[in-house]
Amino acid sequence: MSARLAVVGGGVIGSMIAWRAARNGWRTTLHAPDIAGAGTSVAGGMLGCAGEGRPGEDAVLEFALAARERWPALLADLEQSGVDTADIKVARDTLLVAADSSDAGHLRAVIDHLAAFDVRPEAVDRSRMRSAASMLGSSVRRGHLVAGEGAVDNRALLAAVRCGAREAGVTVTAEKVCRVDDLDADQVVVAAGSWTSDLVEGLPVTAEKGEILRLSRPPTAPPPPDAVVRARWRGRSVYVVPRRDGVVVGATQYETGDRGDTAPRVGGVSDLLIDATELMPGLAEYRVVEIGSGLRPTTPDGLPLVGRSDARTIVAVGHGRNGILTAPLTAELVVDLLDDPPSTSPWVARLDPRRFP
Ligand SMILES: Cc1cc2nc3c(=O)[nH]c(=O)nc-3n(C[C@H](O)[C@H](O)[C@H](O)COP(=O)(O)OP(=O)(O)OC[C@H]3O[C@@H](n4cnc5c(N)ncnc54)[C@H](O)[C@@H]3O)c2cc1C
Repeated sequence: MSARLAVVGGGVIGSMIAWRAARNGWRTTLHAPDIAGAGTSVAGGMLGCAGEGRPGEDAVLEFALAARERWPALLADLEQSGVDTADIKVARDTLLVAADSSDAGHLRAVIDHLAAFDVRPEAVDRSRMRSAASMLGSSVRRGHLVAGEGAVDNRALLAAVRCGAREAGVTVTAEKVCRVDDLDADQVVVAAGSWTSDLVEGLPVTAEKGEILRLSRPPTAPPPPDAVVRARWRGRSVYVVPRRDGVVVGATQYETGDRGDTAPRVGGVSDLLIDATELMPGLAEYRVVEIGSGLRPTTPDGLPLVGRSDARTIVAVGHGRNGILTAPLTAELVVDLLDDPPSTSPWVARLDPRRFP
């Protein structure tokens, strides 16, 4: 009889771990209650490495780049289980742009920082930019194209992974877990996002809130861009991620001490609308179909906490701005940790949940 695994948390991290573990022979139960503010369904779905690159966050970029390498295999795996990944992949490239000279200076610093990691976005002129994003406003004269850095529809991805998990034999329950000790399992993985520290003591995880909008395109409005467009816009950040029938516009980012605070703030929503319609005036014709907000589980150094907290429990939490992108690598590390003997990947030491004093 195979060993029993309980995975706590039905976001992208927990669901992908449950799927991978079941395929590795674990008799797996996934605890996936609907909790307001969970990040996975709210997110933009960008697979952002260059787009998320920030000077001073070298390790975060390294982890993102390592995770990006896992995506072709993940998409091939989903195809093999009968998923049409054309519904999941929504963009292949990313365009980085800036509004004024101060924003351009900020973007230049990011581009210089990326060069140290051999990531070299290509400088492109207005006509190249317009072919990737015809709605771009006339004030945007120059940009940088990051070929191959695309985006997925995170909701379609989660549905596909859950479906793969069920097919692999995972039992999915909406039951909320109150105490890890009560779970009837040989091993437990806690991947409960911003709520993980309610279940495992002493983890330095905080919640960062973000507002995000979903807009649909009426037939007469200009088409969504082909690429993800990320802008530094008068000192703020805004991005537009294509969807089949519209776009996602995101996202604000600020710490919140209150995880019950999941309602979108008026100021955050109005900033997004102003910045997005200046960046792409054609968006003014789109319809607002959803105003959302969610919590990003974050850690002091920006890297997730993935590893053992005791002999029966592994945690996988703290994926911050990049949990969609980094889920396949996290799932691989957790499944390796469940093996006997466990993985020797260098990431195991770097992501050790006990690395903070
Ligand atoms: C506005 C916004 C935009 C974002 N955009 C992107 C992006 O473009 N690209 C990207 O890579 N990342 C993005 N992110 C980050 C990404 O969404 C997160 O890193 C990711 O969702 C973390 O996944 P998770 O599974 O750890 O947590 P969550 O998605 O928060 O899921 C946690 C799950 O835990 C479960 N849970 C909680 N408590 C319990 C309990 N007691 N018992 C059982 N289950 C429990 C719930 O089922 C919940 O679904 C964005 C986040 C936000 C907020």
